[in-house]
Amino acid sequence: MPAMRRHYALNGLRLLHSTARPGAAAKPAPGGEHAGIRAATLQTTLTDSPKPIVPKEKLVFGHTFSDHMLAIEWTAGGGWGRPQIKPYGPLQLDPSCSVFHYAFECFEGLKAYRDAQGKLRLFRPDRNMARLNNSAARLHLPQVDGAEVIECIKELLRVDKRWVPEGQGYSLYLRPTLISTENTLGVHRANSAMLYVITSPCGPYFPTGFKAVSLYCDETNVRAWPGGVGNRKLGANYAPSIGPQAEAESKGYQQVLWTIGEDHELMEVGTMNLFVLWRNDAGELELVTPPLDGTILPGVTRESILELARGWGEFAVSERKVSMKQVAKASNEGRLLEVFGAGTACVVTPVHRIHFQGRDYDIPLDPAHPESQAGPIAARIYKTLLAIQYGDTPSKWSVVVD
Ligand SMILES: *Cc1c(COP(=O)(O)O)cnc(C)c1O
Repeated sequence: MPAMRRHYALNGLRLLHSTARPGAAAKPAPGGEHAGIRAATLQTTLTDSPKPIVPKEKLVFGHTFSDHMLAIEWTAGGGWGRPQIKPYGPLQLDPSCSVFHYAFECFEGLKAYRDAQGKLRLFRPDRNMARLNNSAARLHLPQVDGAEVIECIKELLRVDKRWVPEGQGYSLYLRPTLISTENTLGVHRANSAMLYVITSPCGPYFPTGFKAVSLYCDETNVRAWPGGVGNRKLGANYAPSIGPQAEAESKGYQQVLWTIGEDHELMEVGTMNLFVLWRNDAGELELVTPPLDGTILPGVTRESILELARGWGEFAVSERKVSMKQVAKASNEGRLLEVFGAGTACVVTPVHRIHFQGRDYDIPLDPAHPESQAGPIAARIYKTLLAIQYGDTPSKWSVVVD
């Protein structure tokens, strides 16, 4: 029997006050002709059977979920309904629902961090909301008012505060998910949809310090292509990556290096953005990442690293195309200094080896400390971003959940 649930109109007044911005309540979602999301109308139903907290040392990424979830339903006729925080649990969807057949789904990934004062913080959540809308647009799923969704997420965090583990590297991972709930086998735009947010406590990506990974440069499979959807966080981009990932693993490498074209232009590594630090052909020290040409996922971590490194002003920072052939040549000439992936889950993942056309290219990472699992720039970026995320370094990027 399902647990009895307690209903109450959640702190209605407080929310009305805390979210009241001029014109916010009346403003419809951008692009939507009907009702927008209104955090002020949020309703909470608390679970009567809270789960025991998993000891933080035992957490495995994406395996544990908190007690509650946020859900907001949308219809073409009525727009967005009242946001609901409710006990975490299964969705009931018709087997014909188009999310199952045609992958009408997009998602986001961000984290809530507990700072030294015990306050919860989000990192640049406005970027995730903008990206969610960009993903939704390609699927013709409804747009959201990002500021209102962030207010709803903050309330979810207040309700599930005990699920945010404390300590550097620990956080509560948030997974906003937007799906079609349309029951039809016809391939056409959805007339009903749902946005939900589930949360999952997680530990450091590398619990024992950095652990550099090896990459297999896939010469057959392509993750994204011009005019495709590589720049949108659609579920449909991920299932097809599992075959190539399994193949890379069977060859003894940990992740796929995605490239495109005859010269094997670098794209991404696994589900992360890719950075290369080298002395380029002109002999200049340069941190380079592929440009946002529509095939690259615009990572919040990527954007933040570019802004940080440009602010340091110590080396060239570029968004431009680089081919695996150029990287191989740089490696042969001793000019390849660091390679790393970047994303919310890990912040940075150092790379120590790349397999390309029958050869392994080893990356020294930190020649002064051969046992080191990260190059000095990757390690510095990691430290700097963590200090901002955990509120140790004041920054406008860190949003306090008060
Ligand atoms: C989510 C994701 C990233 C990283 O984005 P962040 O906003 O930094 O977490 C990079 N590449 C792909 C393919 C992704 O799905």
